[in-house]
Amino acid sequence: MNETTCPFCRIAAGTLPADLVATEASWIAFRDLHPQAPVHVLIVPRRHLVSAVELENDPALAGTLLAAVARVARREGLAERGYRIVSNVGHEGGQTVPHLHFHLLGGRPLHWPPG
Ligand code: 5GP
Ligand code: ZN
Repeated sequence: MNETTCPFCRIAAGTLPADLVATEASWIAFRDLHPQAPVHVLIVPRRHLVSAVELENDPALAGTLLAAVARVARREGLAERGYRIVSNVGHEGGQTVPHLHFHLLGGRPLHWPPG
């Protein structure tokens, strides 16, 4: 998958529609197509990194993205009630889209441990 076929690159480029909740210089946020909770937003760097594995080389972007998740969560009304941040990595991590993203899940009690 390259930047012309990657769905999250296409959403960032505006060539694939999405329900956008934030557009910033280095990242975007949009609602998941198949929400698993009342609030299910994906926070995605504009740059095509495959997964969190690559964040080892870019701690500044890692910080920017976590701050972005916290900002979106507050705007979605989740800061007081709580929420979950998830980034699935690779095959055994359950990653299905090979473009780094953080799931922001909230709006209902979330169970632990995950499957
Ligand atoms: P992963 O399984 O890689 O952790 O998460 C990928 C997420 O992206 C899934 O929750 C899936 O529903 C969502 N998704 C996949 N393709 C699209 C798309 O084209 N648009 C949106 N909004 N979400 C997508
Ligand atoms: Zn991509």
